[in-house]
Amino acid sequence: MTSEIRYRRVLLKVSGEALMGSQGFGIDVAVADRIAGDIAEVRRLGVEISVVIGGGNIFRGVSVASKGGDRVTGDHMGMLGTVINALALRTSLNKMGVESVVLSAIAMPEICESFTQRKALAHQAAGRVVIFAGGTGNPFFTTDSAGALRAAEMGAAALFKGTQVDGIYSADPKKDPTAERFERLTHAEVLHKGLAVMDVAAVALARENHIPIVVFSIHEKGEFAKILSGSGRSTIVAD
Ligand code: UDP
Repeated sequence: MTSEIRYRRVLLKVSGEALMGSQGFGIDVAVADRIAGDIAEVRRLGVEISVVIGGGNIFRGVSVASKGGDRVTGDHMGMLGTVINALALRTSLNKMGVESVVLSAIAMPEICESFTQRKALAHQAAGRVVIFAGGTGNPFFTTDSAGALRAAEMGAAALFKGTQVDGIYSADPKKDPTAERFERLTHAEVLHKGLAVMDVAAVALARENHIPIVVFSIHEKGEFAKILSGSGRSTIVAD
């Protein structure tokens, strides 16, 4: 069975907004539990998995900058939001008996371990789900870029981007019913067409490191495991 698995080691990028469910802010524990369940299912397939979690459900640095505040401070606030989300996801995973660990790009040793590549690889080799918090640890970046960066550092065979819809479209399908859905694209096409699936830096980093990006719906229960088993709906971005 495991011989049919498409990728043996993956990194999942989950946006903070995915965790808030229909609340409009913060964390809906039922949604966090559901996503943790999908991660647990993939783990049971024998796939090594690490996760980069966003923070948009709590804070985005640009919102401070757009009101005349200091962008760097705003981004620090945003990165702290990702730590809150990472702790929520770890809690959900631990509740279902999946061993997991949070590694933060910004040191806060009383709360979680600090990120080093060596530590992350050791946890992964020990069978734990590694959750990366704090994005890249730098302002002016996003957790999408952190996703591509950590995927490269972890030697992931693919970067899974969980989104609101089942792949990449030419326009937002929730607003434009004529939007075209793509089955397969190259990194260069995503960049040239200006498709708003991940930011440019993230796509460029994935392209440089020959890491495919698999875009799928994070809200579709069981879809993550289905795609890894060879079915399911997604758009694959690959060279
Ligand atoms: N952020 C940052 N550097 C990073 C990653 C994130 O400064 O490497 C900050 C930034 O302010 C961003 C916020 O954290 O708006 C939340 O991250 P992001 O917007 O990527 O979250 P998502 O959209 O995935 O929920």
